[in-house]
Amino acid sequence: MAEFFLVVNAGSSSIKFGLHETSAPFAAHLRGLIEGIGTAPHLRLRDAAGETVLERRWAPEGFDHARAIGEMLALEREALGDSRVVAAGHRVVHGGLDFARPVRVTPGILDRLAALSPLAPLHQPHNLAPIRALVELAPELPQVACFDTAFHRSQAPLVQEFALPRRMTEAGIRRYGFHGLSYEYIATQLPGLGLAQARVIVAHLGNGASLCAMQGGRSVASTMGFTAADGLMMGTRCGALDPGVLIHLMDSEGMDARALEALIYKESGLLGVSGISSDMRALRASDAVEARHAIALFVHRIHREIGSLAAALGGLDALVFTAGIGENDAATRAEVAAGCAWLGLTLDAARNAAGEGRISAEGSRLSAWVVPTDEEGMIARHVVEVLSQGMALPD
Ligand code: ADP
Repeated sequence: MAEFFLVVNAGSSSIKFGLHETSAPFAAHLRGLIEGIGTAPHLRLRDAAGETVLERRWAPEGFDHARAIGEMLALEREALGDSRVVAAGHRVVHGGLDFARPVRVTPGILDRLAALSPLAPLHQPHNLAPIRALVELAPELPQVACFDTAFHRSQAPLVQEFALPRRMTEAGIRRYGFHGLSYEYIATQLPGLGLAQARVIVAHLGNGASLCAMQGGRSVASTMGFTAADGLMMGTRCGALDPGVLIHLMDSEGMDARALEALIYKESGLLGVSGISSDMRALRASDAVEARHAIALFVHRIHREIGSLAAALGGLDALVFTAGIGENDAATRAEVAAGCAWLGLTLDAARNAAGEGRISAEGSRLSAWVVPTDEEGMIARHVVEVLSQGMALPD
C-alpha cells in the first residue's frame, strides 16, 4: 500500500494541497488548488505530470474556509484509493521568536501558534484551520507545522531589530522575515551549485516578493520585516513605505487601520501603480505606458534592496532567481541584472532566455542562477525530519 504525506498551504482566499511521496525528492503524486474562497470558488486537481484531472466550481454563498477544508479532505480520501496518508505537513506563516524550526503539533503547540495570530491576522488563522480540522477528523495523524519565519532566526539579533523603544522590541515588534520555506529549499540546492560558502542573494519574485541574503546556507538579512508587506514592491503590496505616509493618510484622508491594510496589502504594488493588473504576465503583454512604468518601479526597488543586502553580506558572489516571476520572466531577470553591473554581473542572453541553471556569462565576477523553488517539497522533508527525530518542543 502506497503511503503519502498530505502537504497543506492554506491562504486567505485559497488552499493548496498535495499528496507527496514520503522520501526524497518528495514528488507530488497529486496537487490541488482551491481558489476564490468568498468570491468564485474553483478547484483544479493535477496529477504528477501536471495534467488537470478534475475541475469543480461552487457557488460562493456558504463556501467558506471550513467548507473548502472539508472539500479538500473529501478529495484527498477519494484520490487515495488503496493508499494512505501517514502524516500531514502545514505551511504556517508565523512561528514568532520561539519556533526556529518545524514542530510536531500538539494541543499545547496549537494554542501557542494561535496566540501568534495578532502578528499575522490575515494568514495565521487560515493556516491553523486545516490543522484543527485534521485533529478533529483524524486525531491519530501526526501533523507538522513549518514556519515561513523560522529560516530567518539565524540572523544576528541586531539585524532583527527596529529602532523603536526597547519595550516594543521586547514585546515582539521585530523583523521576522518571511518566505522562509522557499529560501530554505534554495539553501539546500546551493552546495550543488558550488555556492555552499558563497555570499548569495536569493530573489523570491512571485505575487509576494522578497530578497534574502544568505551565507553558509543561513539567512543573514531579508527585505521582509514585521509583516510580509515590507521590502520589495509586489503584486498588490507596496513594500517599504515611509511610515510618515501612513500618518499623513490617517490625518488627511481619515483612513483607519483597515483602510490602510487594504491599501498596503491589496491595492498597491504592480496593480496600484499600473492600474491594470497585479500579474506580471499581463503587464508584459500590455502596450500601456503604465504597465512599463510599474515594471520599471518593481525592478528599481529590487536594485535598491540588492545594494542593501550586498552591504549586509559585505560583498556578493551570486544572485539566485526563484518563484513565478524569477523562474519564468527572462525580461525581469535581464532588467535586474542590468542594474547589478556595478557588482560585476554580466548575463549570458541565451542562457537567460533558456532560464535554467547558471545564466551569467563566463567570466562574470558575480554569478547568476535560476533555481525553481519547492516549498511543498521542503515541508515534506521537514515532516520526515521532525517525525524521525521526535523534535516536538515541550508544551
Ligand atoms: P505566489 O506568490 O502566489 O506563489 P507565484 O510564485 O506563482 O506567486 O508567482 C506569480 C507571478 O509570477 C505572477 O506575477 C505571474 O504573472 C508571474 N509569472 C508566472 N509565469 C510567468 C511567465 N511565464 N512570465 C512572466 N511572469 C510569470
